[in-house]
Amino acid sequence: MEKTLVLIKPDAFAKHHVGDILKRYEEEGLRIVAMKEVRMDERLAALHYVEHIGRPYYGDLVGFMTSGPIVALVLEGEDAIARVRKINGKTNPKEAEEGTLRKLYAANGSRNAVHASDSPENAAREIRNFFSAMEIFDETYTIPD
Ligand code: ADP
Ligand code: MG
Repeated sequence: MEKTLVLIKPDAFAKHHVGDILKRYEEEGLRIVAMKEVRMDERLAALHYVEHIGRPYYGDLVGFMTSGPIVALVLEGEDAIARVRKINGKTNPKEAEEGTLRKLYAANGSRNAVHASDSPENAAREIRNFFSAMEIFDETYTIPD
């Protein structure tokens, strides 16, 4: 079982696509093991997008990601990281396959509806940025003594 971090970005949130996006992940057999509505600030954006600091689009990216509420969730399933990236589609909706979330809901390659982790290392780091261990109800969850 693998876990991955998903963000439903401010554009999709503002356009009322949260329910449709969650439904899609559930229909694909992924389990929501943590979820919250949050608003990113510049520090959280820098932690989350550390690999992008210094890129020409970084300022725009942070401005966008901090512009309104988002939904953060952890999805669990077999091969979840690759499967969720496939469900989301390519970064730019013009290149995304039909039926992918970005094809359906993204306006362009920066306002692109959803984020998902791209490796086990990044998934672990990104999940830690948004959730404490107590907030994750994964397969190891038991009621503490
Ligand atoms: P992905 O989200 O598909 O993993 P990247 O890791 O390359 O894509 O980029 C992270 C996010 O930064 C993108 O989803 C998008 O919101 C933004 N971004 C990436 N490249 C650009 C760009 N050239 N111009 C504007 N925004 C970009
Ligand atoms: Mg990425």
